[in-house]
Formats: sequence, structure tokens, C-alpha cells
Amino acid sequence: ILIPSLGLVLAFWFYSARDTFKPEMLRGKRVIVTGASTGIGEQMAYHLARMGSHVLLTARTEARLQNVVRRCLELGAASARFVSGTMEDTAFAQHVVREAQAVLGGLDMLILNHVGASYFGFFDGDVEHVRKLLEINFLSYVAMTTSALPMLKESEGSIVVVSSMAGKVGFPFTVPYSATKFALDGFFSSLRQEFAIQSINVSITLCILGFIDTERAVRAAAEVLAERPAPRDECALEILKGAALRRRELYYRYSSTRLPLLLRDCAAELLDYLVRSRYRLPATPGA
Ligand code: NDP
Repeated sequence: ILIPSLGLVLAFWFYSARDTFKPEMLRGKRVIVTGASTGIGEQMAYHLARMGSHVLLTARTEARLQNVVRRCLELGAASARFVSGTMEDTAFAQHVVREAQAVLGGLDMLILNHVGASYFGFFDGDVEHVRKLLEINFLSYVAMTTSALPMLKESEGSIVVVSSMAGKVGFPFTVPYSATKFALDGFFSSLRQEFAIQSINVSITLCILGFIDTERAVRAAAEVLAERPAPRDECALEILKGAALRRRELYYRYSSTRLPLLLRDCAAELLDYLVRSRYRLPATPGA
């Protein structure tokens, strides 16, 4: 197992090292960032602002978005605006894209990052919750992509999909969330194939993240996850680098995402065990 794994790591390293990122790549680019009021989305907005992009930000909380827009302008954004609303409503998702057309005159990058609230615990059987989460975390991504595609084709732009390790391997305690992230992989990986067949030059970067130190994630999981979260500003920058380089997939951090996933095809049960061993589990009654 060790020698083929080492070969794969070297091949991937060679593949990743073939081009280098420069902040100028994003200067003047017209970018939508969803879920930009907090967490990784907020940090991506700040990095884009420093690089001189035009940013159109969205989330539900207007007051937070106002602050993020103000900070983006201070940091040097070519322009910064927001549209507030909920991604439970596909009409709102489409409205955000129309707004980009109206105020930016086109779009170079669509960053799909928002995530609806869910619980951390054993699956409770609430089918309506799964449906609602699919609407927020999956269907709105599909709706925004569909609406944005004519503009992205014209600019030969990029779609960035923020996903998770929980969208590549089964995770306990986040069953509805994991389901929505797996759905994203299915949709966007298939769409990428169709783009290749049709010679559509729009890149799709699927971002596989480990545990990141955003307030929501730390509140939900810090006590039960036996690992330290990675910094959200660094994570945000790595996503933008991967997107600018038109990577197919981006793994952050590599050691806690890509390396364990190498086991998936040759030792799936070992990988499942390693995932479970990340949690500090309470003793099971009767066990
Ligand atoms: P946060 O909870 O910090 O941010 C989520 C964003 O989504 C906020 O801006 C929130 O704003 C917005 N949002 C929530 N509900 C809705 C809604 N119904 N409609 C529109 N916007 C909404 O999340 P993170 O920064 O931690 O996560 C960002 C991405 O990274 C997500 O896709 C997540 O799955 C992924 N990820 C994160 C990990 C982590 O450990 N942090 C690990 C793996 C993946 P508002 O409440 O104002 O609407």
C-alpha cells in the first residue's frame, strides 16, 4: 500500500506544482460570494478585496453584510455590494445572479459557499429537515449555476463549490449535511464531464475542507472532534488560489483530507474507522 500511495502523492504534488498563483489573476474580476456574512465566505470576500476584485456578496443578515462590504472597500475592492435574502428560495438565488448582470455587467467567478443550519447528533429521522437542507445547500447551488452559466460561458469563468470531507466519505452526526455535500459532488462532477464534451471553458473547482475554525463549526464540533481546526483566513485564500488556477478539486488541509481519502478505494473500512476515531464519543448505554 505504501509504495503506490507514495507514487500517487508524488504524482499529485507534480500536478499541483505545475502553475503558480498570482494575486493579479483576480484583479478586476467580477465575483459572487455566497454565505459571505461570516466564516470562510467573509474571509474570501476580504482576500478578493485585497486583490482588487469586484465583489457581490450575499447571505441573510443585512447588518453583517453591510460591515463586510464596508471592510472590503477599505481593503481595496474594485467595488463591493451585497444582496440579502435566503437561499431556501430558488427565486432569490436567481435574483442574485441577475443582480450581478445588472451591476457588474457579467461574471467571472461564482463562489457557492453558503450552508444552512443543521444539527450535530444522531440522525433524528426528520425528513422535512433533509428536504430543507437540500434546498439551501444543494438546489440553490444548482439554480445559481444555471442562471449564471450564460455569463460564465462568455467570460470563460469559474464555478467554485465549497464542500467538505463529509461530502466524500460517510461522517457520523451530520447525516443530512453530508447528504447535501455528496449531492454537490454528483451534480458538479457530472456537469464538468458535460462541459468537457461540449468544449465549454468554464472551470469547476470542488473544495474539500477539513475542520475549519469558523464560529459555527467550532460551536458545533470543537468538544467532540479530537483535532484542532485550521484557520479560516488561510482556508479562504487556498480556495481562491485553487479557483484561480482552475483546479478540478482543492483539498484543505491536504494532510487531513486528501491523504486519508487515498484509503477510500483500497481500505474503505479502515478509513471509516479513522473517521470515527476523530470523535470523542460518549459511552454507549449498555455497551
Ligand atoms: P458559517 O456558518 O460561518 O457561514 C455560513 C454562511 O451561510 C453565512 O454567511 C450565513 O449567513 C449563510 N447562510 C446560512 N443560511 C443561509 C440561508 N438560508 N440563505 C442564505 N445564506 C445562508 O459557515 P462556514 O464558513 O463554516 O462554512 C462555509 C462553507 O464551508 C460551507 O459550505 C461549509 O459546509 C464548508 N465547510 C466548513 C467547514 C468548517 O469546519 N467550518 C468544514 C467543511 C466544509 P446568514 O446567517 O447571515 O444567512
